[in-house]
Amino acid sequence: MSEYNWCHGPTCHKSHTQDRIRGVKGSKVLRTRKVRQNTYIGMFSYFCSNSCYNDFANEHIQQIIAIAPRTEALETPVDVQQVKHPEHYNGHYTQTAWTETKIITVDNG
Ligand SMILES: [Zn+2]
Repeated sequence: MSEYNWCHGPTCHKSHTQDRIRGVKGSKVLRTRKVRQNTYIGMFSYFCSNSCYNDFANEHIQQIIAIAPRTEALETPVDVQQVKHPEHYNGHYTQTAWTETKIITVDNG
């Protein structure tokens, strides 16, 4: 495995940044960034930035979705509780009463 990947962003080589400039006077180019390889393999092993990742995803969205299409909704069982917090003085100011909506994941093992 090589030590670097070229960034897969489709327009990485069009961003006007100094670190992308290569070549000699008269024949300079903006070049796709190299992305260093780490032991951790993730999106930043193939993309120099979130922007390049988003550009790639938008350009290839149909193929990406085809990897794992979602044809029905998923659901997470939860318990929803209304917790009333009374007005109280916290030492600095009076906190007005408020109702908290607590969403607790139910583990159905
Ligand atoms: Zn890039």
